[in-house]
Order: sequence, then structure tokens, then C-alpha cells
Amino acid sequence: MAEPTMLRSTGDRVVIVGGGIAGALLAKTLQNHADVVLIDPKEYFEIPWANLRAQVDPIALDRTVIPHDEYLSHAKVVTACATGIDDSVVLTSIGRAVAYDFLVIATGRTCTRPPKRPDRIDMFHEDRRRIDGAKSVLIVGGGPVGVELAAEIVISYAYPDKKAVTLVHGGARLLEAMGPRAAGKALDWLRYKGVTVLLDQTVDPASAPPDAREFTTSAGETVKADCYFVCASRPLASAWLRETFLKDHVNDKGQLAVDEHLRVGGMRNVFAVGDITDVAEAKHGYLAQRQAMVVSRNLKLLLVKGSVREEKLHRYKPGAKSTMTVTLGRYDALAELPFMSFLGSLPGAVKPRELFITGPGG
Ligand SMILES: Cc1cc2nc3c(=O)[nH]c(=O)nc-3n(C[C@H](O)[C@H](O)[C@H](O)COP(=O)(O)OP(=O)(O)OC[C@H]3O[C@@H](n4cnc5c(N)ncnc54)[C@H](O)[C@@H]3O)c2cc1C
Repeated sequence: MAEPTMLRSTGDRVVIVGGGIAGALLAKTLQNHADVVLIDPKEYFEIPWANLRAQVDPIALDRTVIPHDEYLSHAKVVTACATGIDDSVVLTSIGRAVAYDFLVIATGRTCTRPPKRPDRIDMFHEDRRRIDGAKSVLIVGGGPVGVELAAEIVISYAYPDKKAVTLVHGGARLLEAMGPRAAGKALDWLRYKGVTVLLDQTVDPASAPPDAREFTTSAGETVKADCYFVCASRPLASAWLRETFLKDHVNDKGQLAVDEHLRVGGMRNVFAVGDITDVAEAKHGYLAQRQAMVVSRNLKLLLVKGSVREEKLHRYKPGAKSTMTVTLGRYDALAELPFMSFLGSLPGAVKPRELFITGPGG
């Protein structure tokens, strides 16, 4: 039977737009309390910080890319992008409209992944094949993604398969989201492991011919590389909101303004969680999950009681100046705490070996 083009309201319908770190956890915790519909362009949940390990370690793959229906036995999943919303309905890219009683925006960062899990797995295998077959690898971008990928590659491939890794970064130091001391430690670690780090230079390998094996940086240096990876951070996925009834709540950074209960525009039934919100704190997965848990508790109250006095709703307390950890291969990591940064196997023991690779299923 064909899917209905309109999913009508059921009175307790919670529509969650975005099945990333925050949206997936929220859907899982609410699925036995409401009629939950998760709208996501992918059929699967993916753990962003395990991506880089999965690129070099196929065993990590299965636990990194988890079908939504594996942990959502009582929720509906609509595999599509949300393209519009009004005060009662979400429109999707497949022409299906989904009515809501409660709405949660959790679209985080723009998604460039294929909708089907096997195609995503193939992408990892293809990346792995490219690295396996290369003697030299160019990484463009010295943020956490570029640094972690460089570290994974130098640690995962030993002599005689060792790769010559070059990291080119446009800024004067790596990891600009961290302090200069932490960035200096990462630079020392990478250089000690044999990575060539070129700072204050840019390179655009995508504009070179497909069979190019040499790339010239803006400073005129030549980098030999059999394959390359561009590691830029993805923009917030809020452009689509600018044409909707929430447009006045999108700030000029593309964030959605929320109150202390994580509601948008003080509306009783519209919430936002995760990287998309304007909560004044660093954008981390563990904070996105904390936000999801606050909204989950608020929605459970609202679902049971219909309406709840303001003071009964749970409040979200933004994280203090938060810690940031960048993994450096399997055994080391660089941790920046509010008062110091340190590098070695102690922060490594906290994050990298298993990279917290557990899905929303726990
Ligand atoms: C390489 C890397 C390493 C990281 N390491 C760490 C770490 O170690 N620790 C940590 O705490 N955080 C880490 N982070 C940050 C963390 O991943 C983010 O803070 C977290 O993913 C934010 O969760 P989110 O649910 O708000 O958004 P996302 O996880 O970005 O999820 C957004 C979801 O919305 C979907 N979506 C987008 N647009 C639409 C639309 N129009 N309609 C429907 N769905 C849509 C996307 O497909 C995606 O599924 C890392 C991030 C990266 C990239």
C-alpha cells in the first residue's frame, strides 16, 4: 500500500526534525511515551567523532553507522529532509507532510551523507582503499577533524605501509577552538610522529586534475600526495528555517534562539536541541545530549498534563567553559580543561580507544 502523503495529528504526536546526536536520543527516550516521528535524510544514525576511526578501522564501522529502526522500535522514521514548517505541519522533500502536536528542531550541521546505509559503508571502504593504496596523504584543514584524521593515519599504518602525511592549515596554529598551548602540544605530537604540518598556507586539491599527485600551496610549496581529504567543518543546517514561521528566531549565525526550557519563541510546543540552538556554550555532542534529555523530560510532562505551569518545566543550564578532547590515534588524546591542557595516555584513556562508540541504544 502506498505511504499516505499526510501523517495526521494524533494528539500526542512529537515530530523530531534531525536524527543526529540530539534528535536520535530524544526519539529513543520518547518513543514509548508519545507518537514519535523522526524526520532525517538518512536511514541511519551516525556518530561523528567515530568517523575518522571508521575510515581506517573497518571493525569500528558497524558500531558507527546504526540504522534508525534498530533503536526505534516504536517510532516512525521518515527518510527525507524537512523543507518547511508552519504552526502545525512539517513539509518534507519527498512530498509527505507530517502534522505535529509538539515539534523539536535538531538539525545540527548540514548533512552530505547518502540516505542508504550500504552506500555510507561503501564510502568508508572507499576511503580506506584510498588510504591503503597511497604512499602519501594530504589533509587540508587543521581543526579537530583534520588533526584527528592525521593522527589516525600515522598511528594505524606502520612500516612498511607507513604513509607520508602532510597537513595544510590556513591559520597560524592548529585547533583554533582550543587555546594556543593545547594547539602547540598537538603540533608537537604530530611532528614527532612524522606528520609534515604546513601552517598559514592553503591548498585546493579539488581544483587540480583528477590524476594530480602534486599540489602547490599558496606559499608555493609542493606537496606530493596520492590521495587527499578536505576536513572543513560543516555549516549549521538552518537555511531551510529562514522561509518558515520560525524565521524571526534564526539569528545571523544561523542558530535558533531558545529560552531556558529550550523552547523556540516561548511557544508551548516548539523546542530546539543541539548544535542548532543559540545556547551560549561550546557545541559538543555530550551537551547536545544533555539538551535532548531536558526536552525529553519537559515533553513527558506536557504529554501527560497537556499544559504545565512555567516553573514546573525543567531548565537547561549551559555547560561551564567546557572541556574539549581531540583524539590522537588509539592511545593518546589532547584534553583542554577550563584551567589547563594536557596530552597523553590519560585523556587518551577517557576517549580514544572506544571513542564512546555506543549508539542511542546505549
Ligand atoms: C569529527 C568530529 C568530531 C567530534 N568529536 C566530538 C567529541 O569527541 N565529543 C563531543 O561531545 N562532540 C564532538 N563533536 C561534536 C558533535 O558531533 C556535535 O556537537 C553533535 O553532533 C551535535 O549534535 P546535533 O544532534 O545537534 O547535530 P548533528 O549530530 O549534526 O545531527 C543533525 C542531524 O540533522 C539532520 N538534518 C540536517 N538538516 C535536516 C533537515 N532539513 N531535515 C531533516 N534532518 C536534517 C542531519 O542529517 C543529522 O542527522 C565532533 C564533531 C565532529 C564533526
